[in-house]
Amino acid sequence: MKICIVLSSVLLFIPNLVNAQQLNFRELQKQSEKTEVYEPVPPVVTPGNTPAAPPSDAIILFNGENLEAWMGDDPSKPTGWKVENGVMTVDKSAGGITTRQKFTDYQLHLEYKIPENISGEGQARGNSGIFLAYLGKKDNIFEEGYEIQILDNYNNATYVNGQVGAVYKQAIPLANACRKPGDWQTYDIVWKAPRFKEDGSLNSPAYVTVIHNGVLVQNHTELKGQTLWVGEPFYAKHGAAPIHLQAHGDPSEPISFRNIWLRPL
Ligand code: MG
Repeated sequence: MKICIVLSSVLLFIPNLVNAQQLNFRELQKQSEKTEVYEPVPPVVTPGNTPAAPPSDAIILFNGENLEAWMGDDPSKPTGWKVENGVMTVDKSAGGITTRQKFTDYQLHLEYKIPENISGEGQARGNSGIFLAYLGKKDNIFEEGYEIQILDNYNNATYVNGQVGAVYKQAIPLANACRKPGDWQTYDIVWKAPRFKEDGSLNSPAYVTVIHNGVLVQNHTELKGQTLWVGEPFYAKHGAAPIHLQAHGDPSEPISFRNIWLRPL
């Protein structure tokens, strides 16, 4: 008798359970639709053949052919840097180079190589840098803006807020992801420029995310202001600005760049 009761109640229960599940699922589906969003539709961007290759909407800053997108301190003269075999190499006597175009927020891809025969130590070994917003030169010597350091830190120590991947003198990289001299290395950078009020005061600071050779080294890092060699960082009002590659004055062998592209955000 007991077995009969148990069995019949199980048989009664199964169809009810299925129905209940169906009813609940339909209701959940309706509830789910309330949080579905259909606009704005993201633009179609065709990716490059590899993550390093420029996608369809990229602005090409250097594709190995010429330096038309760049200028030296004197915009009317050539940069002085050499382009050979699809690669451009720093000319320290000519100084740094600056994009002709100005940008605000963007995604940047860049590749660089420390020469195999690099010499020197500390900051004087493959030093360069990417100024994410270049604000010109102070006293005609010191580059102003916001620098992500380039340096050979493969078995070469220096102050950690000045090693490769650092927001120079502001933020230590989360890792040292250096490849050895002679190998090509990549930087993928997301830059959110600072915003200023009419009166020149800061409205919102700059933020930067940096991936070095596929390794996250800056994670939405807030900048305290311009990156300075001497003194504390500060903000001074500016708008859209060019990107600048540093020709550092140390005597070590010059580094090279290739495949530089950017997507405005
Ligand atoms: Mg530097």
